[in-house]
Amino acid sequence: MILSQFQSVGRDLFARGLVSSTGGNLSIRLGDRIIITRRGCMLGCLEEHDLIETGLNKNDRSTPLASIELSVHRLIYQKTTAQAIVHAHPPNAVALSLVETEIVPNCIEGLSLVGRVPVLGWNMEVKPGCLGDVIAKALEQCRIVMVHGHGSFGTGQLLEEAYHCTTALEESCHVICLLKSLQPKPIKK
Ligand SMILES: [Zn+2]
Repeated sequence: MILSQFQSVGRDLFARGLVSSTGGNLSIRLGDRIIITRRGCMLGCLEEHDLIETGLNKNDRSTPLASIELSVHRLIYQKTTAQAIVHAHPPNAVALSLVETEIVPNCIEGLSLVGRVPVLGWNMEVKPGCLGDVIAKALEQCRIVMVHGHGSFGTGQLLEEAYHCTTALEESCHVICLLKSLQPKPIKK
């Protein structure tokens, strides 16, 4: 049951081009335990051994096998009511994260599902597994955030909800990018 949820979200993220072959990671919280995708696994074809169970607060023998973003997922669960997290690299949203400090969806579904999305990590060193405090704090107020030049962290009560946030954000960002490409460029004199 849990494996099939991870498999369907992972497969869809890869099929939609929201993660590369080994990019992104997924997790759910079960009390004081986390089930998170394995470091370096392929979300498009997850198997049982790709799901790593470890502590929410404590390390154990499985911890080194977990995704490199484990520390960020832990902080999000510690500071918010999220029960599931999807981290992806949606291309249009990543492009906008390089030029905007906040993304405001301009279509109704995007606005109602994700609202205004802060872009975090400007003027900071952005590396996988970093900025956990900043990301978790922002997710106290919203369902999804973007990290500058990196990717999204979407949350929900179910993995599916966190996935819906991610696709709604990317759809909105795609429309914003299309609109930007339609805007006439100033004529050089
Ligand atoms: Zn990433």
